[in-house]
Amino acid sequence: MPLFEYRCNACRHEFEALVRAQDPAPACPSCKSIDLEKLLTAASMSTDQLTRDRVKNERKRRLPQHKAEQNEEYQHALKEHLHDD
Ligand SMILES: [Zn+2]
Repeated sequence: MPLFEYRCNACRHEFEALVRAQDPAPACPSCKSIDLEKLLTAASMSTDQLTRDRVKNERKRRLPQHKAEQNEEYQHALKEHLHDD
């Protein structure tokens, strides 16, 4: 069953609703408005997108070490520069 996330345009309330093809459009549980915006949920994302996100997260995890290395180089260069003065 498809689970959709909606945001109410009337009161900005966000909620999830199970919507089957034969069901009428859901209404906001907060103000009963049917002026809703359908948001993307993880469930409706393609596998391709999820894979790309996973790769992005892997890169993020590796980044701190890389940054530390860069920083060490930078500190070294800075010290040498100070030494020159
Ligand atoms: Zn509402």
